[in-house]
Amino acid sequence: MTLDLLIAGARVVDGTGNPWFRADVGVEAGRIAMVAPPGGRHAARRRIDAADRVLSPGFIDIHGHSDLSLFSFPLAQSKLLQGVTTEVGGNCGWSAAPLNPDMEEQVRAEHPRPEDVPWGLHSVDRYLTALGEHGIAVNYGCHVGHGTLREAVIGSVDRPANPFELATMGRMLEGALEAGAMGLSSGLIYAPGCYAPPSELEYLAAIAYRRGRLYASHIRGEGDTLEQAVAEAIAVGRRARGPVHIAHHKASGRPNWGKVARTLAMVDEARSQGIDVTLDQYPYTASSTDLSAYLPAWAREGGTRMLQQRLADPLVRPRIREEVRRPVAEAGETADWSLILLACVRGRREWEGRTVQEVAELTGTDPVDAVLDLVLAEGGTAQVVHFGMSEDDVRLVMRHPVVMIGSDGSSLAADPAWGKPHPRSYGTFVRVLGHYVREMKVLALEAAVHKLTGMPAARLGLDDRGRIAPGRMADLVLFDPEIIEATAGFADPCRHPLGVNLVVVNGVIAAEDGAPTGARPGKVLRACWANCGRNFPPGGRNLLGPS
Ligand SMILES: [Zn+2]
Repeated sequence: MTLDLLIAGARVVDGTGNPWFRADVGVEAGRIAMVAPPGGRHAARRRIDAADRVLSPGFIDIHGHSDLSLFSFPLAQSKLLQGVTTEVGGNCGWSAAPLNPDMEEQVRAEHPRPEDVPWGLHSVDRYLTALGEHGIAVNYGCHVGHGTLREAVIGSVDRPANPFELATMGRMLEGALEAGAMGLSSGLIYAPGCYAPPSELEYLAAIAYRRGRLYASHIRGEGDTLEQAVAEAIAVGRRARGPVHIAHHKASGRPNWGKVARTLAMVDEARSQGIDVTLDQYPYTASSTDLSAYLPAWAREGGTRMLQQRLADPLVRPRIREEVRRPVAEAGETADWSLILLACVRGRREWEGRTVQEVAELTGTDPVDAVLDLVLAEGGTAQVVHFGMSEDDVRLVMRHPVVMIGSDGSSLAADPAWGKPHPRSYGTFVRVLGHYVREMKVLALEAAVHKLTGMPAARLGLDDRGRIAPGRMADLVLFDPEIIEATAGFADPCRHPLGVNLVVVNGVIAAEDGAPTGARPGKVLRACWANCGRNFPPGGRNLLGPS
């Protein structure tokens, strides 16, 4: 047998958390064909001498937002060059499908490069098919967003769904799961997800659970209301009887620092009672979101245009102003405007990288008015980076045994249209291995790699990925543990990392020596019906009607 690829003499960290071992790893027809003691004689079309570097499974980004950006950046440079070989999108309650025509018009109007996207994303099946036809360098699967379903059925309104609407959302969810969505995500600080009561989430999560899928939540508060929000997420798992995954776990705002010790104890307690709860985290003390998330939920009802109308209304604006000045309960955060950087401001690129406080001083206005003016001018497109977390908390969360790593970022390449994004898109995985493993010794290498590979693979039901073993898909990354480092910072976020030598996706070299090869070997990953090994029915039903 002639192998397609032989990586010889690597220190293999196999993704299970087990200690590393030295081996030759052979790849044939997209799969790992051989894991053998080093020094054997194997015929291979391409041989790479690992020279003591580490070979691990490709990293799995369990929490990504590349839903539409992959159409613009199919090589997924920001992630691929870190060693990411699989991403799951559709997070925080928002997925690129199913969109009805009104929603699609709004998304299109706010997208930086609408010409790149094959619109008509009326079903998850159509979306995933379009992505597969486009061709991508990494594997990609998605959740379906609760907010997306809710908006499609009842619009962006602040009220509970009635039984008929709930049933309609449930049928749409079934269609998305049938098409291969990996689970249901919620974003309970964002409109319209924030208008849903817990009972709605329990009803929908139960539908996902019947098919063996996950409920993944951006919980209702990550600051002042963190503990209540974690309790709500756990209760969904308890009542609907299935697995809950809590996204980007953190305590935001100085008065809330240290609360993660209590929330992690809540997770341990829930697990001891048989509730399957896991979490993910990105390795930074700054978060990033839409600037409009800092405005009260009632002001966001009806969508961006309604929000802008309210901001322009001299009778309504003072009320919004007053509520933003107080702690922003809906964002779960107490805003200190000198800690909030503008990441994307399409109309004023020169403000990107400056704090809200600085922009207020530059324009001779109050910071809250600066925020309201920005949302009025930019709609939902203004993005911010918020330095709201404690380093001790980041480390405590990282060490927890059921915490895995997710970027909360997108597949990007340097492009001014995307502004100055949070560096997590370019640095999450390499920062864990360089900063937190090598420099700070927060985790052992094997434990960290497990959180980047085998643990998310198991969580997502990706049985043939996330581990180096014969028969598994050949998603691999070869890196130098002494060199690996994130170079992307907040001032210069679009820089690619050091120390990642080779990235293999489905047996094909997708990046080498810090550059993409141009290959697009990524597969669209569709969860199969009930994870039972049966093929999912072809052509997910289009429950939004013809488009
Ligand atoms: Zn989120």
